[in-house]
Amino acid sequence: MLKFSYQEHIKTYYYDTRNQDFTQPTLTGGQSADVCVVGAGFGGLSAALELAERGKSVIVLEGARIGFGASGRNGGQAINGFEDGMDAYIDDMGLEKARKLWEMSLEAIDIIEQRIAKYNIQCDWRKGYATLALNHRRMDDLVTIEQTSREIFAYDYMQLWNKAELKQYLGSDIYVGGLYDGNSGHLHPLNYCLGLAKACLDLGVRIFEQSPVIDLDVGKSKVIAETAEGSVTAENVVLATNAYVTSLPKRIQRGTARKILPIDSFIIATEPLDQETANAVINNGMSVCDNNLLLDYYRLSADNRLLFGSDSSSNKDMVQVMRNNMLHVFPQLENVKIDYGWAGPIDMTINAKPCLGRIASNIFYAHGYSGHGVALTGLAGRLIAEAIEGDDERFAIFESLKSPSVYGGRIVKNLATKIGVKYYKWLDKYR
Ligand SMILES: Cc1cc2nc3c(=O)[nH]c(=O)nc-3n(C[C@H](O)[C@H](O)[C@H](O)COP(=O)(O)OP(=O)(O)OC[C@H]3O[C@@H](n4cnc5c(N)ncnc54)[C@H](O)[C@@H]3O)c2cc1C
Repeated sequence: MLKFSYQEHIKTYYYDTRNQDFTQPTLTGGQSADVCVVGAGFGGLSAALELAERGKSVIVLEGARIGFGASGRNGGQAINGFEDGMDAYIDDMGLEKARKLWEMSLEAIDIIEQRIAKYNIQCDWRKGYATLALNHRRMDDLVTIEQTSREIFAYDYMQLWNKAELKQYLGSDIYVGGLYDGNSGHLHPLNYCLGLAKACLDLGVRIFEQSPVIDLDVGKSKVIAETAEGSVTAENVVLATNAYVTSLPKRIQRGTARKILPIDSFIIATEPLDQETANAVINNGMSVCDNNLLLDYYRLSADNRLLFGSDSSSNKDMVQVMRNNMLHVFPQLENVKIDYGWAGPIDMTINAKPCLGRIASNIFYAHGYSGHGVALTGLAGRLIAEAIEGDDERFAIFESLKSPSVYGGRIVKNLATKIGVKYYKWLDKYR
């Protein structure tokens, strides 16, 4: 079992520009609630909010701080659909179920917009997102995605761009073209997360920070979640620990931890760019990802910094590696200072399918969003709330998605991740 020793936020651009600063107490003594949620990232807070809106009493136990995990430090890109496009889902589960999944992925974006409006969450939400191709074979993948979205799902927010069209919006020469999606968007993830937490608190949810769950006592009708200094007795438990799932006792992780292969991702933030330089990078406010397996993703922040991220394996000087990655895309930023650099684990599954399920009839988990967690976590929370209320039809569609397990302990997993990263790098170069 991974000892949970994370206590405070790491230093990021997001942390330094947070617009709320509140701490919650550590759990002491015994408490009870209808539902106990473990983990205060987007996933846990979304479940808590949905349940509180439906009148349930909810306690959230967070091992470190609200938004400490991926939710407080990600690229902020809320992208609809799933990592590998919809064709694999249509092949695996048939058109009818795949269509429901697609519609739910659109709902995931709506959920963000609705919550921002309903709870007045200030998080720089902005629409517009493009996936870019580095060679013609990968451009063909984008053409297929556009075609499937339009012809099968009647989705008309997408536009294919050739190199010249893309150049109107993006100051880089390395891409052959892209696929723009006007319905996906981006936000300041920590401020969105803190906004969700505030909405939860206003609805009476009790959140305890620095209260890692160290054991779960699974009874027939109640579960007791134990921390070092207290416990919560609840009818249902939601595990939203994501890439940190190995912090839970082995007997609780069961097969679920084996599905997650955390891949390190790194982000740098430049100093604020003057308007002219910023416009020469991105001039239409969109966020961007390439469609490599180990991808670059970037966007401008509200104060015109370039937030540039890449998936990679760690290196001693990641800021330098990331700066080189950024200069490969935007050589014009040679003289721009890098103010921040940070890292976090992305919750990948082997086949990039999200992993939602139950380890007992009253213990739910959701993780493995594979680069789509900013949007899908909101949906996962809603589906778990529906299932707890007795309607698990939509949750069951996600539950039926299968991803292969990675067997072995942490050392084997680390090795598998390293080999996987090397293999992906090779594929990105030659495929
Ligand atoms: C650098 C980076 C960039 C990314 N960029 C994007 C992006 O642009 N778009 C996108 O869609 N996705 C992106 N992701 C992925 C996305 O951030 C995640 O999928 C999403 O935030 C997952 O939310 P979550 O609530 O499930 O997990 P998290 O936000 O990781 O929350 C889990 C929480 O559980 C807590 N916890 C763990 N164990 C325990 C325990 N035993 N007891 C109590 N609490 C515990 C942790 O402290 C943590 O706060 C990125 C991830 C990273 C790291």
